[in-house]
Amino acid sequence: METTNCALLACCSKMASGERRKNPTLICVPIIGDSVEQMLVDAGKAKASGADLVEIRLDSLKSFSPHEDLKIIIKDCPLPTLFTYRPTWEGGLYDGDEKKRLDVLRLAMELGADYIDVELQVAREFNNSICGKKPEKCKVIVSSHNYQNTPSAEDLGNLVATIQATGADIVKIATTALDITDVARIFQITVHSQVPVIGLVMGERGLISRIICAKFGGYLTFGTLESGIVSAPGQPTIRDLMDLYNFRQIGPDTKVFGIIGKPVGHSKSPVLYNEAFKSVGFNGVYVHLLVDDVAKFFQTYSSSDFAGFSCTIPHKEAAAKICDEVDPVAKSIGAVNCIVRRSDGKLFGCNTDYIGAISAIEDGLRGKGNGSGIVGSPLAGKLFVIIGAGGAGKALAYGAKEKGARVAIANRTYERAKELANVVGAEALSLTDLNNFHPEDGMILANTTSIGMQPKVDETPISKDVLKYYSLVFDAVYTPKVTRLLREAGESGAITVSGLEMFIGQAYEQYERFTGLPAPKELFRKIMAKY
Ligand code: NAP
Repeated sequence: METTNCALLACCSKMASGERRKNPTLICVPIIGDSVEQMLVDAGKAKASGADLVEIRLDSLKSFSPHEDLKIIIKDCPLPTLFTYRPTWEGGLYDGDEKKRLDVLRLAMELGADYIDVELQVAREFNNSICGKKPEKCKVIVSSHNYQNTPSAEDLGNLVATIQATGADIVKIATTALDITDVARIFQITVHSQVPVIGLVMGERGLISRIICAKFGGYLTFGTLESGIVSAPGQPTIRDLMDLYNFRQIGPDTKVFGIIGKPVGHSKSPVLYNEAFKSVGFNGVYVHLLVDDVAKFFQTYSSSDFAGFSCTIPHKEAAAKICDEVDPVAKSIGAVNCIVRRSDGKLFGCNTDYIGAISAIEDGLRGKGNGSGIVGSPLAGKLFVIIGAGGAGKALAYGAKEKGARVAIANRTYERAKELANVVGAEALSLTDLNNFHPEDGMILANTTSIGMQPKVDETPISKDVLKYYSLVFDAVYTPKVTRLLREAGESGAITVSGLEMFIGQAYEQYERFTGLPAPKELFRKIMAKY
């Protein structure tokens, strides 16, 4: 990949010295300001954030005098420049004359642009028009955008060949993810292509294409200056790339870990694990994985590169079914929240929620003196009411029962409450029963549904009036840290235990299973204290 290396060297000459990186993949910040002045300010911010180059989106300028403005941008930009003048027919904002548009790109090239982006549809015409006159320094990226889907591997291979045949220095293919498994086909063409490839899959399901492209030899990825201000759907911020995902440290042998869920974007797990990996120099990256179908995900990402996974709503039960081996505790709970790929390639599933939640509740009781001095668990003999009968609900029911508590389970779908109650030996309630259920004082309450989770922070699973019958209230939801349920429980005099405690507890164990290293407990606490 000669072009990759040459361009990287060109970019490195403008980079902060002394930076260590394990991959040559460039980080490009799209600059979509409406004036040249704003663009140059943003390019300065991009440089300060650690970007390698900026993409100047000429189609976002409100007024544009090509000769004058291009000269200023090229002269004053603190980073190498990629010029894009995207027409409306390819998802951009320019709706003027095509000839004028291509003239501008030609001019940018002549004036010293490092890269220009030309759409596949006009690439042959453009390349013919510059034949023999292309400055050595400038690389032509020929791009294709598909806002509907991601084609088959065969069609993508043909697309690369078509783009290459136009004389492109760099191939750019941006497709749309309908499923996270679509990204695997883009990785496949990136790895096998003889030409440098920018392969990106748009949308939240395509997020990993923008992060672990560094592992698969992607030429470039985009990181925005601010979240929400994107030039294509699903772009992460450059801050997330650099600080959250440690992008520069991702190499061909970096192991991929992640949280499988739907929704999953709210999860703080990537912050926790990536910080911990960084603290001990562990060669891994932990990403958000928006997965629709767990079985399909594992069929597609079946290599040893994809090494370990946390599982959250709504996939814990499906995860238990697809593992080759499931730990006996997780089997009886019927839910897996941690999957590790063993050295023989087989998937091993276990449940760390159970330990995390129960020990946090016991600590809560002991901490307030309610259980201190008691031999055994302070939960023994207590009436333990669980709201929810999904993965977390099952884990708590199993754990509470094991600690000698009497258990009642209330669930929106009463049949599921009944089913779980039958298995663990508990009482089943409907959610409406819950507000009239107070056979005694000093009960323990655990919410294991997503009620009250961001963004629906005003919701709560139980009426405040009955909270006075509970001595401790636990909420598995941890975004926000203090849910409406916990706030009202505190006001009613109960001890409150946040889902954050469960989160930290279950993460200790997962980290050790993922890395084979002891979990940095203090670091976990420090990181999570920020949320
Ligand atoms: P799950 O297996 O999909 O189960 C979801 C449960 O929530 C089911 O009982 C479901 O009832 C109920 N539910 C969902 N939406 C509801 C609504 N609008 N009204 C009433 N009930 C509703 O999910 P999970 O993995 O157990 O996770 C549940 C919650 O616990 C999530 O918020 C998750 O973030 C949190 N959690 C936190 C931690 C932590 O470390 N703090 C760990 C695990 C889970 P039906 O049976 O009627 O569908």
